[in-house]
Amino acid sequence: MSTPANPQLQPLLERMTWPEARRAAQDGGRVVLLPIGAIEQHGPHLPVDVDNRIVVWLCNEAARRRPDLLLSAPPIHYGFNEHNMGFPGTITVAIEHFINYVFDVCHSFVRQGHTRIVLLNGHGSNAMPCALVARRIVNESSDALAAAISHWNLARDLAAQLRETAIGGMAHACEYETSWYLFLDQAAVKMELAVPDLLERRTDYTWADLMAGDGPVAFTDDWSRVSNGSGVEGDPRTATVAKGQQYAEEELANLIRFCEQFKAMPTLPRRNYTARGQDENPHYEQ
Ligand SMILES: [Zn+2]
Repeated sequence: MSTPANPQLQPLLERMTWPEARRAAQDGGRVVLLPIGAIEQHGPHLPVDVDNRIVVWLCNEAARRRPDLLLSAPPIHYGFNEHNMGFPGTITVAIEHFINYVFDVCHSFVRQGHTRIVLLNGHGSNAMPCALVARRIVNESSDALAAAISHWNLARDLAAQLRETAIGGMAHACEYETSWYLFLDQAAVKMELAVPDLLERRTDYTWADLMAGDGPVAFTDDWSRVSNGSGVEGDPRTATVAKGQQYAEEELANLIRFCEQFKAMPTLPRRNYTARGQDENPHYEQ
């Protein structure tokens, strides 16, 4: 772990007093990193906290490296998981509750003074609702901007070089996620129980791949219908600590770089060119 740029600055909101939290939110504030995970089966070889563990590590480590820019918030532990409820250890939150709850948390940061919020998501089925929450923050705030990232998208280029699994087969408790967990906590991974579960494409238009993108048709079936019972989607046997470390560093670097640019992006004034508005549109001839 590297030394913080300014050891005076606390990177974690949960460790702050309220005067410290106030300072962190002044003048638009530091960019808030909100980790959003899930408690969900990840095959017979990984603990159910994979998605939480990864995003909490990314947010906390990014804020430790750049406490002048970033503030890591306590995580949203539970996610939208109905499709995996046939497997033990999975907890789900109804989609409407999830969206409203995550929105309320993000909007609280806006009310405290922060103007840049980044939702860092670790679970596939949270991606769409997180994007909607970010949109709603932008739509309903005068000066705050929110963006949603699914962390694996920060390492797509690297995955193209590292992956041993064929495209269409790296989706869940797979080579990628298992490598990440090996990097975070090797002792917690039961590699002797890691089994491949490579699905056949059910149509020419539907497949799932975290690192190369899903098929052109959005379709998620109940996972108990399609897995052969392992809960894996991919081949975790090719996972290594070294791959996990490379993914971690790549995602961290891209996360920090995005936040620098997101913070520097100006919030431009809204215009109203409608018949009810006062703004003049240069493209409109009187
Ligand atoms: Zn996962």
